[in-house]
Amino acid sequence: MRLLIVEDEPNLGQQLKNALEGAGYAVDLATDGEEGLYLGSNEQYDAIILDLGLPEIDGLTVLDRWRKEGKSTPVLVLTARDSWSDKVAGLDAGADDYVAKPFQTEELIARLRALIRRSSGNASAELTAGDIRLDTRSGKVTKAGEPVKLTAQEYKLLSYLLHHKGKVVSRTELIDHIYDQDFDRDSNTIEVFVTRIRKKLGAEIITTIRGLGYSLDEPS
Ligand code: CA
Repeated sequence: MRLLIVEDEPNLGQQLKNALEGAGYAVDLATDGEEGLYLGSNEQYDAIILDLGLPEIDGLTVLDRWRKEGKSTPVLVLTARDSWSDKVAGLDAGADDYVAKPFQTEELIARLRALIRRSSGNASAELTAGDIRLDTRSGKVTKAGEPVKLTAQEYKLLSYLLHHKGKVVSRTELIDHIYDQDFDRDSNTIEVFVTRIRKKLGAEIITTIRGLGYSLDEPS
């Protein structure tokens, strides 16, 4: 899962980026409205955290442009404390949720998890396929109740496929959603990660669909 943060306070932006990377997300950080608008329009994100008070282009305008372009990515806006009018304006412009500053990082992460879950049609924080379970809260994966250790990239890939269980996911889509912008993207490494996940969780878990990509299905 890949996120965009649009936040002009350098410390807060970097702190959030670190926390979200620690929680298993690929994260891009934009520090003004113009860069944020560009990235949100041109890159593929699973959710966006958008500050409303931004230099160049303000957050509400950025959000309004995304929605007019038809971008339906879930957006969580950061509002000024006690500003009910910010919250109303944010929701009216197409935000899916908001958090008022200052906030607890844990709360923001929990809200993001819920947004991503809902937008991919998953009601539970625990994603499953057969005897495999991925807890999006703790980032822990088990097979038949036994913990399985995955690397950060393996986790990102498995999490994306589990969020989209039963659908065919192309290699390009995986690359777009598990790497941040600065990462040296190599589509061959996707196959390597898939092979390693199969080794750890069973060969049958991910099906290769020749010419199209991969799919993770409920075992029959
Ligand atoms: Ca700001």
